[in-house]
Amino acid sequence: MMNTPLTIPPMLERAERYFPSKQVISRTLDNMHRLSYREIGRRTRALASVLNEFGLKRGERVGTVAWNHHRHLEAYFAAPGLGAVLHMINMRLSSDHLVYVINHAEDRILLIDEDLLPIVEAVKDQLTSVHTYIVLTDKKEVPQSTLEPLYSYEALLEKGNPNFAFLEDLVENEPAAMCYTSATTGKPKGVLYTHRGITLHSLVQGMVDTTAISENDVCMPVVPMFHVNAWGLPFSATFYGATQVLPGPQFTPQLLAELIESEHVTFTGGVPTIWLGLLQVIEKGNYDLSSLRAVICGGSAAPKSMIESFEKKLNIPFFHAYGMTETSPIVSYARLKSYQHSWPEEERYHIRAKQGMAVPLIDIKGVNENGDIAWDGKEMGELLIRGPWIADHYHDDERSQEAFRNGWLHTGDVVTIDEEGAIKIVDRTKDLIKSGGEWISSVDLENAIMGHEAVLEAAVVSVPHEKWQERPVACVVLKEGGVVTKEELNDYLATQFSKWWLPDDVLFMHQLPRTSVGKFLKRALREQVVSAKKE
Ligand code: ADP
Repeated sequence: MMNTPLTIPPMLERAERYFPSKQVISRTLDNMHRLSYREIGRRTRALASVLNEFGLKRGERVGTVAWNHHRHLEAYFAAPGLGAVLHMINMRLSSDHLVYVINHAEDRILLIDEDLLPIVEAVKDQLTSVHTYIVLTDKKEVPQSTLEPLYSYEALLEKGNPNFAFLEDLVENEPAAMCYTSATTGKPKGVLYTHRGITLHSLVQGMVDTTAISENDVCMPVVPMFHVNAWGLPFSATFYGATQVLPGPQFTPQLLAELIESEHVTFTGGVPTIWLGLLQVIEKGNYDLSSLRAVICGGSAAPKSMIESFEKKLNIPFFHAYGMTETSPIVSYARLKSYQHSWPEEERYHIRAKQGMAVPLIDIKGVNENGDIAWDGKEMGELLIRGPWIADHYHDDERSQEAFRNGWLHTGDVVTIDEEGAIKIVDRTKDLIKSGGEWISSVDLENAIMGHEAVLEAAVVSVPHEKWQERPVACVVLKEGGVVTKEELNDYLATQFSKWWLPDDVLFMHQLPRTSVGKFLKRALREQVVSAKKE
């Protein structure tokens, strides 16, 4: 059969050809924009011609420091269309890490949102490879800045060629995009995504047994476009001709609720902390969110209580998925099998709070010191993954050897896999608590604590213990007006866990430290707790 290469330009061309009038709705600092795929196509081609004029060569990286909006979407397609690689930079990295990723990726051109210019200005003297800066703003004038040379995106696009042809000889295994892990320890690690990986990943996002993205959807990626390509949603939504809503800079839960209501969003995805915020707003406010057919939650474990709150109280379908930067990201998706729909409610939510079955084309196994773990939902081991959109190395990084061995990605996530094939993330290897030679899952404890009516959020960390080696300590943020004591919380947990699992201490806090992508920053929390205990 034909060996047609799986590359990115045909994904956009499909939207241009079949869905030219469907819209990308995009919020920027000052405006709401409504662009058709016809316009997005023309602007993307003009951008590709501009990057070409700037001398961007095949395989070279162009970086973005940008929120979720239409210009970022255009860059998603323009760079790969030229055979270049779009490096989406996490603007919340520390300045050390920011400099590291830009220099390590050898970005030649940076596209930067106007409000994010100061972040790059602050490190500009340390950048070794960038020759051109482009500011993403609605205005054609270039704002005051110390970056040089600095051009206005809109002014450049005006001069670009809207009929520019994408490369015809793209090879499917060429890299198209790049993200760095946000690195809670050590330097960030660079992951390259190929045209083929992104295309196949988009296909799977359209399958009914996974996220089922289709032309019918109004898709709003809340997960940042710098975090694993916003989980690939901008690619798949364009491919299928879905309407897209891009929520722009500095959004609040209120704004998200308003956008869902006004634009009739059907599909959205983000990390649990986003949904926790939205939940609080919609429980108080008066929003019609009945258009939603799926809220996807991933990046950290979705507590069962959160899934139940969305579905039982608010009638909003809520799904749990798992992946990582190294995996494009979809690895598994939690859904009921046909014969599980009649199982008792408690059991159904139990299944759906796990991380689910591997999606088609992805192969998984769990491994511990005794070899492959049994699929019995009990034996624990490290999750290993392989498949066509799983990275096989880190960009120019000797840490590759550790993570990629014998054709498998070693995830550092400790899991069980049950008889039905559902993965359950017990913990990250480094967060597991080893107490008296037995393992305690910080994730299980956190999820249970977050099920208590007085609790807004919780993180459990291990602290060193003379006798038991390590013991769990819970850090808890209460809801507004929520009241519960340490003893009451432990009584509540005692109904679900053995006594030796119960936290030695419960610390009530105003907020928990977070990583740059909104996950609880356990390392910082552990340091905080350990030093507080010493005092
Ligand atoms: P970072 O490593 O920078 O935090 P990633 O998004 O690559 O960013 O993080 C991937 C990790 O997040 C996984 O290895 C896993 O530990 C965790 N994770 C992702 N999705 C889930 C989920 N649904 N449940 C539990 N943990 C998850």
